[in-house]
Amino acid sequence: MKKHGECKSPPSEGGNVLYVMGMKSLRIEDNRGIAHASHLAQERKKAGGKGAGNLIVIFFISPTDWKMHDRGPRRIDFVLRNLREIKKQLDELNIPLMVYTSPSRKDMPKTLIDFAKQWDVKEIVGNVEYEVDECWRDVAILKAAGEAGLYATFLEDTYVVPAFHLETKTGHQYAVFSPWNRAWTAHIEKNMHLIDESPSPEANDKGIRTGKLGNLFDRQGEGFGIPEYVEGYECKDAEYMRKLWPAGSHSARKVLSNFVRGKGGESAFEDRASELGHKQVAPDSKDSRLNRYGIGRNLCSENGTSRLSPYLAAGVISPRACLRATMEVDKNKFKVGRSTGTETWNTEISFRDFYAHVLAAFPRVCMNHFFVQKYERVCWEYDDSLFQAWTEGRTGYPLVDAAMRQASQQGYMHNRGRMTVASFLSKHLMLDWRKGERWFNQNLIDQDFASNNAGWAWSSSCGVDPQPYFRIFNPTSQSEKCDPKGEYIKHYVPELRSLEGAAVHNPFERLSKGEFEKLGYPKPIVVHKEARERALRRFKEPGST
Ligand SMILES: Cc1cc2nc3c(=O)[nH]c(=O)nc-3n(C[C@H](O)[C@H](O)[C@H](O)COP(=O)(O)OP(=O)(O)OC[C@H]3O[C@@H](n4cnc5c(N)ncnc54)[C@H](O)[C@@H]3O)c2cc1C
Repeated sequence: MKKHGECKSPPSEGGNVLYVMGMKSLRIEDNRGIAHASHLAQERKKAGGKGAGNLIVIFFISPTDWKMHDRGPRRIDFVLRNLREIKKQLDELNIPLMVYTSPSRKDMPKTLIDFAKQWDVKEIVGNVEYEVDECWRDVAILKAAGEAGLYATFLEDTYVVPAFHLETKTGHQYAVFSPWNRAWTAHIEKNMHLIDESPSPEANDKGIRTGKLGNLFDRQGEGFGIPEYVEGYECKDAEYMRKLWPAGSHSARKVLSNFVRGKGGESAFEDRASELGHKQVAPDSKDSRLNRYGIGRNLCSENGTSRLSPYLAAGVISPRACLRATMEVDKNKFKVGRSTGTETWNTEISFRDFYAHVLAAFPRVCMNHFFVQKYERVCWEYDDSLFQAWTEGRTGYPLVDAAMRQASQQGYMHNRGRMTVASFLSKHLMLDWRKGERWFNQNLIDQDFASNNAGWAWSSSCGVDPQPYFRIFNPTSQSEKCDPKGEYIKHYVPELRSLEGAAVHNPFERLSKGEFEKLGYPKPIVVHKEARERALRRFKEPGST
């Protein structure tokens, strides 16, 4: 991007600063871009010029982009809800938030520059996004800004360590997680400022409301304003989503705080993400959700994980805030590993960076290609009825069905569930994993391209540092490990609620024919042993049937 950023140096005084808020930066706290934009605005104010040095924020609603990127209604509803919260916060600071619906993605740079000229903007600031289309969009903004004599800059904010800052001894991008993770940890230890908190933006002078920029505050019509919903993205279960996933950075901080201080080992099915640990314990207690994370994260029925993913994916909280929270527990030490809850959680947070680095370095993964290219020749099945049974949670494999029903109801799925259903789709059903990836994109509230693509590619053995093809999750033994008492299954699969003991993990084989038929639960849609052998055959020799 640097190559394209041939903008003129910023003039020293006069004019305003525009911060372009992106889909992954929906907060004003600890946000590198808005903090920098605010700093630049303050400098301009100090340098003089009547009415100069205001900060303006703009967000582009871009349904054409969203369609191309398989965004779903829940994710978009979450964006709109967060924008409303941000608007309230910015209003108090006399900072206008403009939300503009852009009819065409290609027009965005020109529209932005036109707005900038209209509002006497001299500098534009945003945060970098690594996805290919987003990169090209921002390159176009840099170019258009340069041509218009404006100064534009994009900052690294979304990940703890920016992409391309870590390389192997031979100067390449890492493609294996463990050495990458060691390099990531060492890099942060040497550069602790990477997790420093950025200041929130300074308020504009009240006078902005009576001046030329005053009418930006509540501008509606002609594409401006935060709509109730965006056509094509009507969220049918908006009310339930609001209950489970409250919007706003204050909610995200509550979700984090309840993960650090909430009591672990409790069941968690329908609670709000911010109330999963309502029984509080001391942060250094071994019973806290965070300190129990090493155990709790593997149990689907427990409040063992943070449920911060929707907030991290939309940038409602920064990953730095997560690492700082673990340092508070660890007496100001930054620890990564697998020995304690805090170490393990930081390792999981690092996965988010790892997959983003992979995406930035190997953009082909954004273009429907496999990281492991030989598996592009694997022979898939094309049976829509199997795919439908999978989406509806009617495969006859209880853990798979519980997890799929959780996703349909809550827009979220436990990580063990994600790994199990992804392996099941790509190996047991031999359906192209990109179909499952797409379904997740369209249905999950925490949809994040890099993590989702990599999670699917890992599970199907087609991605970076993947699960070896011959490791095929047995859905019954996974169920026994991740949901030993069958509580998760019974919550989401009511047909199995009456079962006792181990039958819940595999009712078809563990009950008599008559008992099974009374349940009204589907027979397994594939036989595990046969499906496993078929997958081994097809992956061993891509192209074979
Ligand atoms: C097939 C598949 C699809 C996935 N799709 C997504 C997705 O669309 N969005 C998404 O955020 N995560 C995705 N993940 C990763 C992971 O399942 C979720 O991040 C996690 O379940 C979210 O729950 P949590 O916030 O309670 O996580 P915690 O266990 O509390 O972890 C904290 C945070 O670390 C990050 N994280 C944890 N595990 C991973 C991981 N394996 N990969 C990348 N980041 C991780 C997430 O940001 C998460 O919120 C996917 C994983 C798989 C196997």
